[in-house]
Amino acid sequence: MKPRIALIAHDKKKDDMIKLAAEYLGFLQTCTLTATGTTGGRLANELGLAVDRKHSGPFGGDLQIGSMLVEGGIDAVIFLRDPMTPQPHEPDINALVRACDVHNVACATNLSTAHLVLSQLQLTQQ
Ligand code: PGA
Repeated sequence: MKPRIALIAHDKKKDDMIKLAAEYLGFLQTCTLTATGTTGGRLANELGLAVDRKHSGPFGGDLQIGSMLVEGGIDAVIFLRDPMTPQPHEPDINALVRACDVHNVACATNLSTAHLVLSQLQLTQQ
């Protein structure tokens, strides 16, 4: 089955997400991708990725992805959080990360971990 990956990046991390996704473009093209609204828009427009776009994070997108995950629909979450900027939807962010822990779904919240998760998923697909 194709890996089902959720991609989320806070505003100051969006450029990092685009760069990361560009590095794994060939692999990500073989995955089923879900993203929060703005992150997904950039991935689609700048890299041509097919992404199922949810609402923007502050408008419930993290919760929508959390709900999918609870239902067993997500295999890994790449969530490039900005630890230096307060977010209006902090409870939603915590809920999504908690749901990953409850359901034992890989959740990469920084670039180093994101590389580890994506490279491992890529290996298991070969
Ligand atoms: P966005 O949401 O991709 O719509 O900006 C991400 C977030 O802020 O959680």
